[in-house]
Amino acid sequence: MTDLIIIGSGPGGYKAAEHAAKHGMQVTIVEREHAGGTCLNCGCIPTKTLCRTAEVMETIREAEVFGISAQEPTLDFKKAMERKDAVVAQLRSGVEMLMQMPGITMVRGEASLVDAHTVAIDGKERIEAKNIIIATGSKSKMLPIPGMELDGVLDSTALLNLTEKPESLAIIGAGVIGMEIASVMNSFGVKVSVVEFLKECLPVLDSDIAKRLRQNIAKKGVDFFMQSACKEIREKDGLLEVVFERKGKEESIVAEKVLVATGRAPQTDGLNLEAVGVETGRGGIVVDENFKTNINSIYAIGDVNGKCMLAHAATMQGIDVVNRILRENGTLTTDCPPIRHDIMPSAIFTRPEAAAVGLTEEQAKEMMSGKPSMPPWKAFDDSRKALGDPTESFPQSCGKPLVRKAMYRANGKALAMNETEGLLKVICDGDGRILGCHVYGAHAADIAQEMCALMNQGARLADVAAIIHIHPTLGEMVWDAAM
Ligand code: FAD
Repeated sequence: MTDLIIIGSGPGGYKAAEHAAKHGMQVTIVEREHAGGTCLNCGCIPTKTLCRTAEVMETIREAEVFGISAQEPTLDFKKAMERKDAVVAQLRSGVEMLMQMPGITMVRGEASLVDAHTVAIDGKERIEAKNIIIATGSKSKMLPIPGMELDGVLDSTALLNLTEKPESLAIIGAGVIGMEIASVMNSFGVKVSVVEFLKECLPVLDSDIAKRLRQNIAKKGVDFFMQSACKEIREKDGLLEVVFERKGKEESIVAEKVLVATGRAPQTDGLNLEAVGVETGRGGIVVDENFKTNINSIYAIGDVNGKCMLAHAATMQGIDVVNRILRENGTLTTDCPPIRHDIMPSAIFTRPEAAAVGLTEEQAKEMMSGKPSMPPWKAFDDSRKALGDPTESFPQSCGKPLVRKAMYRANGKALAMNETEGLLKVICDGDGRILGCHVYGAHAADIAQEMCALMNQGARLADVAAIIHIHPTLGEMVWDAAM
């Protein structure tokens, strides 16, 4: 019997395997496709590689502003996709090498549960372990409407494998994946239209920031159809017609390809969860605050538990589980503080970029109204209680949020970079304690990361104002907002 079986080698699984092996555990990690999971093979890494290609194209287009004459860049789509594949291949081989380190055995095949301590590989070979971590990730959600099976209707994985640039692309869904691909393809010269059910794009962002970002991307030529419910996709003159209802009227758009980017669902196919009695819910495998399922020896981390579908969340959850197992077996003697899911940073690599951490202004308002019902605020409250925060009762007592803003156009470095489009918003409680930060503009992710670090320390605006920021940097906007 080995110490730990991990099913899935995405950022949740492979990092957990590395951490466990470094601490002396014997680990078997099972993978049915490619090492590195969604993130590395068809998620974060390929999209960000293409985002960079788009950024280079946009920079060349702006050359004139810097006194450089350059022609309109021509994209060699095939070469751009080959570069993306090379980046993925390099990182994948790195993960494969890592999974050969002492203490780790990597097994290729499909894992299914046999009992609380046993996993079958491709229904045959059986391996046993004291503990099992399920890290099987997620899959694209397709819409229950006619036409999903048509040629040219793609999920994000199929889109990232295109070998020829489409002339036009209709995207269903203005979430993170939809908006990133819209931005990239627009830079590549593809005619892009986005159909979204909700009033605003990117619900993870403060709506003020999301609106400005969408308007900016629209100015660059992307057509947005908001509050539109897709009804059907059908063939029309060799193209695809997306039919949707907007304000009670039927409308349609025509494109060469259609990307369905309407979210992701936990991947539990083939795991045989029912046989062992692992509880599942609408969000995926049900886990407690320690990512343990209802079966004592089985944990579920990352996208498959539906708590937060981000690569870094999967990684932190996996490390957290390994630490808890190490504590249980006496290897680790230090405390394992709970992961701050309420301070989970995320970024949207559109151009301009956007990023968020903590509460939006709307959520902070609701929280302070004394009627907190939204899940992010609940997570905030739960984390504070778990950490024994003495200011636990502050939200009800402090009226309305304090919101501080800084504009990119007023920042020297942004001006020097010709990146004047953007806004930073810091949301605080009545005492100036930072509850959230939402940004759109160049390097938004780096700015949100600084605020994330400060929020983890429970910082107030006065603390930020006391921190010396390098001049000239975009980070000075944080200081400006605090001042
Ligand atoms: P995964 O990475 O999905 O890995 C799961 C692995 O389990 C897979 O390799 C799968 O083959 C394997 N597996 C499944 N079932 C079995 C089985 N029965 N037996 C054996 N193996 C199995 N997140 C970010 O933080 N930043 C981003 O910029 C970002 N961009 C994204 C862009 C796109 C287009 C997509 C689709 C996602 C993006 N994400 C991003 C989300 C991120 O990819 C996921 O949150 C992350 O990969 C989840 O990690 P995981 O370890 O839970 O699962």
